[in-house]
Amino acid sequence: MTVDARLQKMLIETVAQQVIAHADELTRLDQAIGDGDHGINMRRGFEAVLSELPVLSEKSLPEALKAIGTKLVMTVGGASGPLYGTLFLGLGRALPVEPSGTAIAEALASAIDAVKARGKSDVGQKTMLDVLAPVLEEVRSDPHPLPERLRAVAVAAAEATIPMKAIRGRASFLGERSIGHMDPGARSTALMVEAIADVMEGKT
Ligand code: ADP
Ligand code: MG
Repeated sequence: MTVDARLQKMLIETVAQQVIAHADELTRLDQAIGDGDHGINMRRGFEAVLSELPVLSEKSLPEALKAIGTKLVMTVGGASGPLYGTLFLGLGRALPVEPSGTAIAEALASAIDAVKARGKSDVGQKTMLDVLAPVLEEVRSDPHPLPERLRAVAVAAAEATIPMKAIRGRASFLGERSIGHMDPGARSTALMVEAIADVMEGKT
């Protein structure tokens, strides 16, 4: 697959704008089971990414992903900043310049492993991993997934965090009371996947 500069710019811009547009929703979710800063954190990070869009579009895909990861580590803060930073850095390190669908799945797998190591966390603990893992499974089962399928998997996976009890992150302090709310990081990951699906569908 060739991600030319134009497509790369569109992907970065659409993901960033989608997260920024839903910052209030992410904040509301984090108010319910955290400290209410997830939307603010993510907006700050992706505004910083947008401010470097021209430079990021000119880089190769792996270099752009690494630069985004570094930017997110520096600007997002909270628990999610280092974790999303690790995800994007991991993708950048593992992806070849012109990745096949299989290479994308492999890169996502290694980036998710890096997030797990960094967060000392795993699937089933009510975090962003509960969306990342099913999306990986989808890309593994079909290296050329339909955008609507990717979107549906991500949205359903975020919703599936509602009945979960948080075992990691700030929400875990609530114990049983974390049940009944969607995990904010699961939602922000789903938003990014939705944005990628929009670009795949040529909606933007
Ligand atoms: P903080 O919890 O420090 O306020 P944010 O509110 O920005 O940071 O991010 C919270 C989100 O980060 C959670 O909803 C969850 O998805 C994710 N998260 C927190 N801790 C972990 C962890 N150890 N592993 C994976 N994801 C985590
Ligand atoms: Mg928070």
